[in-house]
Amino acid sequence: MTKDKPSTAPVKHIPQRTCINCRKTGVKRELVRLVIVSGTGVEVDPTGKKTGRGAYLCPNRVCWDNALKTGRLAQALRANISSDNIARLQNNAAIFKNEKSQA
Ligand SMILES: [Zn+2]
Repeated sequence: MTKDKPSTAPVKHIPQRTCINCRKTGVKRELVRLVIVSGTGVEVDPTGKKTGRGAYLCPNRVCWDNALKTGRLAQALRANISSDNIARLQNNAAIFKNEKSQA
């Protein structure tokens, strides 16, 4: 019983998250989690621990703008997002840099 497969670096399983706008993947803490809270609406979840349907976005204003304007966020969360709520999230996104997403 010999293992003659070439040994590669051990692969740790780190769950990857995908930005719903640009499809960039990253580990959880590289992306911002948004969660739908019933009765409140969509909130930013900095701890990543809130329960509920979540979606991830890059900390990049372009992704937030697109996801909010195209309704992609609502689609990902399967929810209707009120315009107030969208405005709140856009305020949140204002702290992020306006970067071109890299392929
Ligand atoms: Zn993105």
